[in-house]
Amino acid sequence: MQSALETLQQTFGYDAFREGQEEIIDAVLAGERTLGIMPTGGGKSLTYQIPALMLPGITVVISPLISLMKNQVDELIANGIDAVTLNSTQDDDAYRHAMNHLLNGQAKLLYLAPERLKSEGTYALLNRLDISLVVIDEVHVLSQWGHDFRPSYLEAVHLINNLMSAPRVMALTATATKRVQDDLEKRLAIGHSVRTSVVRDNLTIRLETGLKKRDKDAYVYRYLKKHTEDAGIIYVPTRKLVTSITEDLVGQGLSVVGYHAGMSDEERATAQDDFLFDRANVAVATNAFGMGINKSNVRFVIHYSIPGSIEAYYQEIGRAGRDGLPSEAILLYSAADLQTQRFFIENSDNQTDEYQRLQKKKLQEMANYGATTVCLQQYITRYFGEETLPCGHCTNCLDTRAVTDITTNAQKVLSHVVRMRNSRQNKDAFGKMVTAETLRGRVPDKFNWAHFEKLPTFGLMQGIPRVRIAALIDFLLASGYLQVTGEYRGLTVSKTGLQVLHGDIKVMQREATLVSDDRITAESP
Ligand code: ADP
Ligand code: ZN
Repeated sequence: MQSALETLQQTFGYDAFREGQEEIIDAVLAGERTLGIMPTGGGKSLTYQIPALMLPGITVVISPLISLMKNQVDELIANGIDAVTLNSTQDDDAYRHAMNHLLNGQAKLLYLAPERLKSEGTYALLNRLDISLVVIDEVHVLSQWGHDFRPSYLEAVHLINNLMSAPRVMALTATATKRVQDDLEKRLAIGHSVRTSVVRDNLTIRLETGLKKRDKDAYVYRYLKKHTEDAGIIYVPTRKLVTSITEDLVGQGLSVVGYHAGMSDEERATAQDDFLFDRANVAVATNAFGMGINKSNVRFVIHYSIPGSIEAYYQEIGRAGRDGLPSEAILLYSAADLQTQRFFIENSDNQTDEYQRLQKKKLQEMANYGATTVCLQQYITRYFGEETLPCGHCTNCLDTRAVTDITTNAQKVLSHVVRMRNSRQNKDAFGKMVTAETLRGRVPDKFNWAHFEKLPTFGLMQGIPRVRIAALIDFLLASGYLQVTGEYRGLTVSKTGLQVLHGDIKVMQREATLVSDDRITAESP
């Protein structure tokens, strides 16, 4: 039998394995249930395509992405590998062709949508086939701690476990925190996990903060004008924005297509093809776009607004630079955009408290990214549980403005918020205004009943203008040390805020937005 390396070289024409590939392949061939976590563009497909060729029988790939499946099957056939798909969009001929190749043992790979697995007919078919490996792609959707939990998938796992041929199992994803990884290992009884670094060296991560809509439009326009030869994706939060921004840019003579889930199948297919085949340089799209867009020369991904989680963000920017050439990922961040994401969470199909709480937490972690002064790549790798050196080329690494330690003032605010809350039996949370006023030693009339003047933290920031304290509170909110809760939007201290109070974390702020200890104490009332 050919070795894995020979298969890589002779069938796929590559010289050497990339990080993680061989380890995953070896584990699968050794019969381990294997979990592979590799960044987008890391080369996950080959980790099952090679075993598929080496093992007897058929490899079944469960993937939620029909468009990707077709893509993959076409590519495999072009490489001389017999691969088929069964999906709801194919015509009778394609279906018959697939069935023939499966039943006579010609096909080596079968791509299947998870819904399909649940159909009795398909499941009966699978039980007649000699299946040696089942691959679950985008497996993070199986974890409730992931960013895109789909409970309906869990049933697929059960079905896979009960297949007559007792196939090997392999699961793949680009984005999994340590918690998601643990969860998946348990759910799937994984015997061997391979996690490669999430760092993509060719990706320069940039962050532009404080832009209003007008500024963002101008930014995007200028960027596209400067990069007319490059392919890129601009992610926007709503369908309406897809339409208006696309029209705008097309009106200005730029080569742009819009894409969102509300368009007809045909419109979407056209837009996708225009982008894939370079007839349009730029796709303006909601996050419905990209899952399964296998375009290697995407040079930039711009987020017009904050995404819902670091995982989603990382997955979306991973679509840039899959060919390994220098590419950019730019987030146009404004705190006001958080509202849109909160709206999405509050109006999502899943209304369980657990889900709502988790999604809000993920959103908060994304919001913190917009206020961080650490290397942006480091921020992301830490989120996924990996410690790396500063990248040296992101916005924060290149920012030469001084960073000032404002921990003491931050602690004053945070401890006051804790005291105010603890002074009430029912643990009421209070708003920004009364917090700022009592910190400077004044009790607004309508709060006389609360007797905040008795707190040891009352007047702790005496002599400092209210606007400065309010700005500091805003900063602490944006950085995630404070959070708002309840219908009256009262302030509470977050988990990381508590770490600040305990002296475990320092609070740093950049010059331009500074509310420094010095400046605050020097200021006259
Ligand atoms: P992923 O599924 O992890 O996002 P892909 O499997 O689509 O990534 O691979 C990304 C690109 O890298 C593809 O064009 C693929 O052909 C290429 N590739 C994968 N493995 C290797 C390798 N060992 N050497 C060179 N190129 C590779
Ligand atoms: Zn950096």
